[in-house]
Amino acid sequence: MTTSELEQMREEALAIASRTGYNRASLIPILREMKEKYRAIDSEAMQIIADILGVHPVEVDAVATFYAFVHPSLEGQFIIRLCRTFSCDLAGKAEVAAQLENDLGVRFGETTSDGAFSLEWANCMGMCDQGPAMLVNDTVYTQLTPEKVSAIVADYRSQLAAEAGQGPNGHKAESKIQRTATNQLTFSTVPLGDGLDKALAMRRVDIIDLVRDSKLKGRGGAGFPTGVKWNFAAAEKRTPKYIICNADEGEPGTFKDRLILTDYADLVFEGMTIGARAIGASLGLVYLRAEYEYLKSHLEEVIDRRRQAGLLGVNIGGIEGFDFDIMIAMGAGAYVCGEETALIESLEGFRGEPRNRPPFPVVSGFLNRPSVINNVETLAWVTCILSKGIDWFKSFGTENSTGHKLFSVSGDCQNPGIYEFPFGTTVAELLRQVGGEDAKAVQIGGASGQCVPKADFERRLAFEDIPTGGSIIVIGADRDMLDLAHNLMDFFVDESCGQCTPCRLGNRKLLEGVEMLKEGTCSPEYLNDLKGLANTMQVASKCGLGQSSSVALLSILEHFGDEIL
Ligand code: SF4
Repeated sequence: MTTSELEQMREEALAIASRTGYNRASLIPILREMKEKYRAIDSEAMQIIADILGVHPVEVDAVATFYAFVHPSLEGQFIIRLCRTFSCDLAGKAEVAAQLENDLGVRFGETTSDGAFSLEWANCMGMCDQGPAMLVNDTVYTQLTPEKVSAIVADYRSQLAAEAGQGPNGHKAESKIQRTATNQLTFSTVPLGDGLDKALAMRRVDIIDLVRDSKLKGRGGAGFPTGVKWNFAAAEKRTPKYIICNADEGEPGTFKDRLILTDYADLVFEGMTIGARAIGASLGLVYLRAEYEYLKSHLEEVIDRRRQAGLLGVNIGGIEGFDFDIMIAMGAGAYVCGEETALIESLEGFRGEPRNRPPFPVVSGFLNRPSVINNVETLAWVTCILSKGIDWFKSFGTENSTGHKLFSVSGDCQNPGIYEFPFGTTVAELLRQVGGEDAKAVQIGGASGQCVPKADFERRLAFEDIPTGGSIIVIGADRDMLDLAHNLMDFFVDESCGQCTPCRLGNRKLLEGVEMLKEGTCSPEYLNDLKGLANTMQVASKCGLGQSSSVALLSILEHFGDEIL
């Protein structure tokens, strides 16, 4: 780069920092914008960013290389990311992938020699009901076929040729996100503002008591009681406090939060405002996964409308001193950031590596201040509970799993989509509703969940039986269960943050073991060793990723051993 080009880059980075702040938390937003403008984040760019933020360039490199969407190796003008989740496998991903490699003349992980396209895999982009799916930069394409991707690549080539003055611009490849099928959702029946109005008329302690007594549990999958979490944060004296919406739904097969944020964002922001009132938070942050970048402007419009209506800002609801606002913070592509302490690290501008606990985020979270982190769906249910009442909510579900739950259904069924059922619904009943009665198994809870065989379809979807964040991948009678195991272990090898040995190395050994099983070279003795390793990983890994990454494999081995061995 020439001196003047470097100076121009410095000016650009300074302009971004003037908006995002001259602090460490601005590192990922700056990397994202610089990546968009300059494509390659080289060592000179890293030095410039490091100088502006007052950090060592090695730290900039460490963060850039951690996240898929700002990784320095992606140099193409158009980054094509094809989803490799098992739902997209079932929908015909392999043929689409082969066509992309053929049309572009590169393999996955490579960039075309003219610098026009980088071809990458993506780990679930929340389009599981309409796969195979891919992103081209921030634009989503769904229900792909080999013919469709050829036409899309040709369109982008035409755009590049036109920009180079070599012909008319025939670019017309438009994003085609289909309408996700749903049954009747409670969220569509809640009057906007009703829940917040009722909360503002209550004492803060009474809001917490109501949420706690509703027995609402986190809908992201972990199932921690929401009211208990809020109570811990409310008890902390240090300020400021934060309420963070975890919109990083990266669990393969999950896309309910995409729908909620698209159609019911007000309910989520209302839930955040109710939570802020309850715990005394002054700022809300929505950590939005990089794959949902296209939702950002819509969410900011909703936030802006709420500000103008006096539902965010100062003295909300006329309550002196109740000041609260919400901002969107973009993720940069890392599944592990769905883990709440990794999410906080990412918000602060670091690699998304989970922290040791304690302290828990409710005591020391974002910027070491008390922070509540709730899932998108959880916050929407808070609004429903305030509006419709605790008796209504508790009239559904089971003793330990109250209320309804949204399920993201994909795979081998007639009607994939988002379905709301009361907790306690059996797997069989859900399959009847979605046209998946012929399934031989269901992968429940995403990559970290269990594979449930047909013989167990009378089991219940509830925290006391089969806990789940809502991912339901239906697996048809003729599917190879080792393909599922391979897909899931490959995912974990890619997404492990590498911080602790059981997870970093254990997932690789399990993936190798699945490959040996596919080749017929895995002895019964070695398979037993692998099972022992899997059990060790569950107790010795630092965070939920390593603790749960072998669950699916073990359940597949347990229930489909006859088929596999
Ligand atoms: Fe990272 Fe895996 Fe350890 Fe979690 S268990 S901290 S993802 S290496």
